[in-house]
Amino acid sequence: HAHIRSEQPIHYFETALAQKSKDKLQFAARLRRAVKRHEFEMHFQPITNYPDQQLIGLEALIRWPQDDGTLISPSTFIPLCEESGLIVPLGQWVLNQAAKASLQLREAGFENLPIGVNISPAELRSDLVANLRAIRRAYSLPHDAIHIELTESSLIDHREKVIGIMKQLRSDGTAVALDDFGTGFSSLSYLRDLPIDMLKIDQAFIRNVDWDARSSTICDAIIALGKSLKVSVIAEGIERSAQYRWLYQHGCDGAQGFYLGKPETLASFLARWGSAKAGTP
Ligand code: C2E
Ligand code: MG
Ligand code: MG
Ligand code: MG
Repeated sequence: HAHIRSEQPIHYFETALAQKSKDKLQFAARLRRAVKRHEFEMHFQPITNYPDQQLIGLEALIRWPQDDGTLISPSTFIPLCEESGLIVPLGQWVLNQAAKASLQLREAGFENLPIGVNISPAELRSDLVANLRAIRRAYSLPHDAIHIELTESSLIDHREKVIGIMKQLRSDGTAVALDDFGTGFSSLSYLRDLPIDMLKIDQAFIRNVDWDARSSTICDAIIALGKSLKVSVIAEGIERSAQYRWLYQHGCDGAQGFYLGKPETLASFLARWGSAKAGTP
């Protein structure tokens, strides 16, 4: 090894680098093909209310299935899709899948279970309002069947335009959630005027909320903020009953996390929750 480094350091380095960028190119090409062929899978994760743990919605989360049976996480490929523009056709597919799922939920008896869809900034600016209207019409869905989740990164550029789009969405009956709240660059002055219905506390603050003073202070502050802005506050990433209880005792409106249910295909969601629903009044 030392020998290689002293004699051909540059060559060695370049080979590794070339290999790496070749991998990257191959990955990008595979991704592009997968987007064209719609080789993805949507999973759905339950969101429940307090105090009775009733289902109040689902979040749609995309996965990329591989030949070996594994699933690639969206945090690996969504950023690449955002860089390359693939996010626009992919997002279109996601919205259609969410609409189909909403129909299936209705058929299974879940009448008012909105599906939250994550929207990247580029999708938001490429005719999302008209897009959603067309999809709702095509599937005969009510206005509130699909919610959208935006992160603060959507508001970094073109803020006025984005706020205009959010207002149009809401006047169409589409609820808007601010996702991963607390991790972005929120300034309280812009939050005051932001047309949103929901704040989702990032899981980073939920992780230790039941024992870490800093996390609990931040969650308390976000919950208070939500109350004064009259938007509901949902906690993400709840994995343990102590976190779940802490958030209830501190006035959080809704809960999401492995403790309540993992993201799963609609078929397995229906198998698990369909019967639970039959037992509830
Ligand atoms: P997000 O919107 O904040 O979604 C929540 C993430 O937390 C999901 O990760 C979910 O699987 C995970 N999660 C939920 N409960 C728990 C828990 O109790 N513990 C832990 N450790 N994690 C939990 P996922 O599915 O890997 O998605 C990552 C991100 O990718 C999402 O974050 C969202 O920003 C983005 N994303 C997912 N699907 C889509 C999509 O269809 N379109 C776009 N544009 N972005 C998407
Ligand atoms: Mg989300
Ligand atoms: Mg989130
Ligand atoms: Mg996130």
